[in-house]
Amino acid sequence: MFRIAIIGGGIIGTSIAYFLAGHARDPGSIVLVEQEQDVSKHTSSRNTGKVHAPFLYDPVKKKLFAKAAALGFEMWEKYAKEKSLPFEQDGVLEVATDERGIDRLDKYMEWGQKNGLAKEELRLLDKGEVAAMEPNVRCEAAIYCSKDGSVDYGLLTKALLQDLKSFGCNVLLGHRANSISYDGIYRITTEQGRQIDAQYIVNAAGGNAMDIAHGMGVAKDYTDMHFRGEYWQAPAQYRDLTKLSIYSVPKHPEYPFLDPHWIVRVDGRREVGPNAVPVFGPHAYSWGKNLSDMIPKILESSRTGARKVFFDKKFLSLASVELKSSLSKTAMINRVREFLPQIRASYFTKRGTSGIRSSVIDKEGRFVSDTMILKKDSSTHILNYNSPGATGALPMAAMMASQIMEAGFLPVAERPRTLWEASAVAARMA
Ligand SMILES: Cc1cc2nc3c(=O)[nH]c(=O)nc-3n(C[C@H](O)[C@H](O)[C@H](O)COP(=O)(O)OP(=O)(O)OC[C@H]3O[C@@H](n4cnc5c(N)ncnc54)[C@H](O)[C@@H]3O)c2cc1C
Repeated sequence: MFRIAIIGGGIIGTSIAYFLAGHARDPGSIVLVEQEQDVSKHTSSRNTGKVHAPFLYDPVKKKLFAKAAALGFEMWEKYAKEKSLPFEQDGVLEVATDERGIDRLDKYMEWGQKNGLAKEELRLLDKGEVAAMEPNVRCEAAIYCSKDGSVDYGLLTKALLQDLKSFGCNVLLGHRANSISYDGIYRITTEQGRQIDAQYIVNAAGGNAMDIAHGMGVAKDYTDMHFRGEYWQAPAQYRDLTKLSIYSVPKHPEYPFLDPHWIVRVDGRREVGPNAVPVFGPHAYSWGKNLSDMIPKILESSRTGARKVFFDKKFLSLASVELKSSLSKTAMINRVREFLPQIRASYFTKRGTSGIRSSVIDKEGRFVSDTMILKKDSSTHILNYNSPGATGALPMAAMMASQIMEAGFLPVAERPRTLWEASAVAARMA
């Protein structure tokens, strides 16, 4: 019998286990259950690796992520330093290629200031100033944000795993939670035949979290749709093309389609991506796996709000652009050539590692903008946990762990073993 079982060893589940085990009087009363043989095998190590500055997030509509991104930078910087893992404060340029984009930049400046960025950390640049800073970039205007970083979230998650194991937390790898029953306490039965009894469950199963929530009678009015983000690795001759990562203002922010970026990775590699290709499952990295997920997802979509999305002409037209950029390398690279005209598709020969995001749709067929943290009985469900989910993982986890402890589900030790006191971080998230 465990006090708390956390399902999913991605960056958020592992961070929650880190805070709970780091504060528990008995860390052995907590178990982290992960279906793979290691943590962060899915989205948490298959992303762009950016510690996003909070200027991109509406402080009202994306309140949780705006707060989490603001805190995430200093927390990851401290944690990476503690573990001698790479953390580069390398900055980002957010470019507008037309008038509408410039209006959006004005909005970002306002959000950035409201979300706590200092004036010297966020600068609006005109065309000439951009040319002086990054001569190969073409745009009408841009925001330069110096407080944006690059990391390897897969490595950071693995370091958290080592920490929570050293605190005494139980970790069950290679076990997929299959069914969950509730009779005052929860019983999780894994596909591999183990039974885990727990008083409290945290559902942090990433792309599978919605299915688990539905199985437990939560979020019945919602469903999800999966989008594969693909990358192309840039050849060595493009290494000096820019110093900064270059993002372009999203043309359709109400949909989960960002335009691909020019990325400077923490290890120095340059990449183009990600696009956002609709796929049928959270692990559909290959077209074969995608086909096997197709029938169940289509059946589910026909019963939920997702079916309305298929009558949304704008969504369909945007999705077709994404599909085209999946099938054609030239179509993908051309999207970045809009602001970095020197690159040539023919020089790109290697794909990068793709990752899948799962976006939640309400019963009206609208995409939900913020993350959803839902509670029922003695369970917490983390849904729609998309970008900047990795950036915000530590503050979000501290907040959720603090709520669970405050509700009396876990007797706490006198002194935390973590780098931060969870309740102090939670207070800054309020
Ligand atoms: C292309 C792309 C680029 C991104 N770039 C960035 C970025 O630059 N910066 C940023 O901050 N965010 C970024 N994000 C978002 C960020 O990566 C995610 O928000 C974050 O990784 C989600 O973490 P997670 O723990 O919820 O999911 P996951 O990493 O998917 O973890 C879920 C875990 O649950 C496990 N699991 C699932 N079902 C079960 C089950 N039944 N039993 C046991 N275990 C189970 C899975 O194996 C997995 O390990 C990006 C996302 C994508 C897709």
